[in-house]
Amino acid sequence: MERRLYPNKLARMYLAAIEDVMGSNGVAAILRLAKLGDLVGNYPPDNFDCEFSFEDFAGVNQAIQEMYGAHGARGLCLRAGRTTLRRAITDGGLMADLPGPAFRLLPVWARVKVGLATLAETLARLSDQVSHVEEDGEKLAFVVEECPECWARSSDGPICFGNTGMLQEAVHWLSEGEEFSVIETECMARGDYACTFVISRELAEHAAEDLDAVQPGDDPARG
Ligand SMILES: [Zn+2]
Repeated sequence: MERRLYPNKLARMYLAAIEDVMGSNGVAAILRLAKLGDLVGNYPPDNFDCEFSFEDFAGVNQAIQEMYGAHGARGLCLRAGRTTLRRAITDGGLMADLPGPAFRLLPVWARVKVGLATLAETLARLSDQVSHVEEDGEKLAFVVEECPECWARSSDGPICFGNTGMLQEAVHWLSEGEEFSVIETECMARGDYACTFVISRELAEHAAEDLDAVQPGDDPARG
């Protein structure tokens, strides 16, 4: 399978966000299980160079699922994804050119649509993640055709919770604080053509519940 690459900074921020929840020992255990022990205390460099393989990014997420089970992985990866995207915007300058005066005058849903298209373009420019936005009535679909999170993984259902969290946070930021529902409906890990994330105009009730799904004291053997 051809090698695909992801930006160092996003991989670094994702690992740091996992560390925020699980502690340094927790993240070290995850990295060792993923056979990425050389990253323990040695995260990728803090730059947007595209050097972190999809294989390794997917490996980290697979190890989280093996350690914490599907439910624990969902909570942890959603949260890590949200934190990663928030920091990439506030500290990393991701989409820094977006909120100009004309953009801010758009209605909320138009801001979300334009912003997600910009995010897809930005990620395509910075990495090998190929994605685009489709509009279907009251819904938007963020379609990822080359997905770093489930690369070479297989599953009975959608497993790209880190990406779901990133999109939740992007929508939250673009809409200036709304929580629209973001659900992964198709996943390449299940054999679907793409990983498809459906963003609905209805406000979500997921936020608080998801973030509490995993806590530092959780027993890794459970689940
Ligand atoms: Zn995926």
